[in-house]
Parts: sequence; structure tokens; C-alpha cells
Amino acid sequence: MTALAQTLARQIALTGPITVADYMEQCLFHPTLGYYTTREPFGTSGDFITAPEISQMFGELLGLWAAETWLRLGSPAPFVFAELGPGRGTMMADMLRATARVPGFHEAARVVLVEASPRLRRIQAQTVGTHPVEWVGALDELPAGPLILLANEFIDALPIRQFVRTPQGVAERMVGLDAEGNLAFGLRPGARLDSRAEARLAAAPLGAVLEICPLGLSIAEKLGARLAATGGAALVVDYGHAGRRDPSGGFGDTLQALHRHAFDDVLAHPGEADLTAHVDFTALARAATAAGARAFGPLPQGALLERLGLDDRAFRLKRGAGEADREMIEAARLRLAGSDEGQMGSLFKALALVHPALDMVAGFAPGEIYEEDPA
Ligand code: SAH
Repeated sequence: MTALAQTLARQIALTGPITVADYMEQCLFHPTLGYYTTREPFGTSGDFITAPEISQMFGELLGLWAAETWLRLGSPAPFVFAELGPGRGTMMADMLRATARVPGFHEAARVVLVEASPRLRRIQAQTVGTHPVEWVGALDELPAGPLILLANEFIDALPIRQFVRTPQGVAERMVGLDAEGNLAFGLRPGARLDSRAEARLAAAPLGAVLEICPLGLSIAEKLGARLAATGGAALVVDYGHAGRRDPSGGFGDTLQALHRHAFDDVLAHPGEADLTAHVDFTALARAATAAGARAFGPLPQGALLERLGLDDRAFRLKRGAGEADREMIEAARLRLAGSDEGQMGSLFKALALVHPALDMVAGFAPGEIYEEDPA
């Protein structure tokens, strides 16, 4: 048992089973034993590699997305250039490098990183380099004014709750203890959902699991309201599905643990494994548009990167590189945009949230505006 597993088992023995969201929250952010508080998850020595760590091309292309969006907004100066959950800060560093020659962009950009972990803030400060940077702990604390915000692999780390259709009605999946005192999943009957979610689950097969990410929905809603009020745009990239518009109907248990680059039992190594869940992009788009923003997508990551110029960027980098580097660049291009197993191009998606007056945004076609289903 990990130290956190013992702590959680004691707590559950005293006060009863906890929700999957509470379990995720403790595993990732427990002040002394949590995954993000105690270790360096990113990169080849960590548990997972994110797109900006695979290749500089990812951050460079998103930087160009930000610059084009800024021009489309009428080049507001100053504006807030923000990133949610920047990890090691690699993507912001690449975005800043790629936009250095866009006249006026750097002068106008007030760079703000939204990061909860003091340890990661120190690493980000080293990575980002010479451009002045500020930190805040949450979206609400961003300075006022027009906003261009990016978030990569941020929402997937936010705690989810899981609801299951049972013959007796909706139950919530909980983490409790088995007869030996080990962590084990169970169901708490009589869970309540909002009427829309309740109706969706009632129409699904018995055993269907519906995941809800309350913090993600609240962030999408706040972001939508903020963009509608002060102007701007956001790009959210993560792995996930189109929710109720997905062939799966948006049902399924997607909670997963990653431990030393391999999938792990979700309850096996609390605090020592990364825990994530697939993002329901339709739910995010719905929350943001209800709050006043316009949404585009979700679009597969591969399509977005190709439209932003991935092939051209890879070609130029390869032209100046030696044989070994050329192979690495080509491998990175395929990993970021390909659709095969182990590649990110279709598993990962991008959603753009914009001020309602913007009817176009780089990388998305006009017909890719998100529209709400009739009730
Ligand atoms: N975007 C980075 C790292 C993703 S990991 C990359 O692509 O490499 C998730 C990041 O979000 C970490 O930096 C983590 O500390 C931060 N984070 C997670 N939940 C958070 C929260 N509720 N508030 C602020 N930061 C959070």
C-alpha cells in the first residue's frame, strides 16, 4: 500500500466511502502525498509525455494560433496572454519564441500562468525565459482585459464523478474498502443528477457510466462569461470525446492511471500514479456557450495542427537538420497528428471558445461552430 492509500483507508474506515472525484483530488493534489505535489510527472523520465514535450512544433503552431487570433481581435494592447496548467512551461516558451516577430504582439502581451503548484511555478520560471511572467492560482484571479488563453492536457486532470444506471435507478460510483480493508469500488444508490443528465442516463443501457467533471464545467462556464464580457478567445486541447454526439453516446468509464509510462489499476498506487479521465468536449462547449461565448469544434488535434501548418513547419525544420534529427522531426509530426494507436491526432481534440462577435478563428472552418441541440 502506498502512504496515501493508508491515509485514505483510515479516512474511509472512519467516515465512509468517498466519491471518485474526492479520490482523484486526493491522489493528484494531496498537500504532502499527492502526485503533482511530490513528483515530476512530465517528460521521458516521468509517467507521460505531453504534446509540447514531444516537439517544439506544437507550441510554435499554437503560438501562431494566438497571434492570428490577436490580429483578428483588432490587436488589443495590452491583452492577457494566459495558459492554464502549463506543466514545465515548455509550450509557453515555444509560443513566445514563435511570436517574437509578430509586430506588437510581445509588447502587448501580459503573460499570466495559472498554476496551483509552487514547485511547478519555479520550473516554469526557468523555462519561459526573458519575457516577464506573472502567476495566479485560479482562472478567477486573471487580470482584467481582453484575453487569449490556451490549455493543453489540463481538463483531463480535473476530478470527475461517475454515475451508473442500475435497475434501481442512478447510483454514484464510490471508493470504499473491501473485507480485507483494501480500497475497492462500490455503488451508492439514490444519486441525483440534473434533469438533462438524468434523462440521458435513463435512456442508456443498464450499467452505462456517465462521467461529469464539475470543476471542468465550472471553468468552461467562467471562461465563456469572461470572454463574452472582456473579449478574447481560448483554445482547449485534450484527449477526449464529443460527449453525447460521440458514437459511444458519451458513456463509459474513462478513468485511468498511468504509472511509469504504463497503464495501472486505478486503485493500486494512489499518489504515485497519474490519474486522468477523458474530456467531454460537448459538455464544455455547452457550458461556455450558455455563459455567452461562441464555440468551435471539437476538432481532432491532427486536423487542427495540419491546418495551422504542421507539414510546412516540419519540412522547414528538417531542411536545416542532420539525418538523425530529420527522423525525430518526422516521428514527432506523426505522433502529434497521426490517427494510429499511440498517436495523438484523433484521440486528442481541440475546442475554441471565442467572443460571440468572432465568426472565424484560425484552424476552424465556419461550419465548425458548435450549436446546441434542441432541448
Ligand atoms: N499543459 C502541460 C501540463 C499538463 S499537466 C503540458 O502540456 O505539458 C496539468 C497541469 O495543470 C499541471 O501543471 C498541474 O499542476 C496543473 N493543474 C492541475 N489542476 C489544477 C488546478 N485545479 N488549478 C491550477 N493548476 C492545476
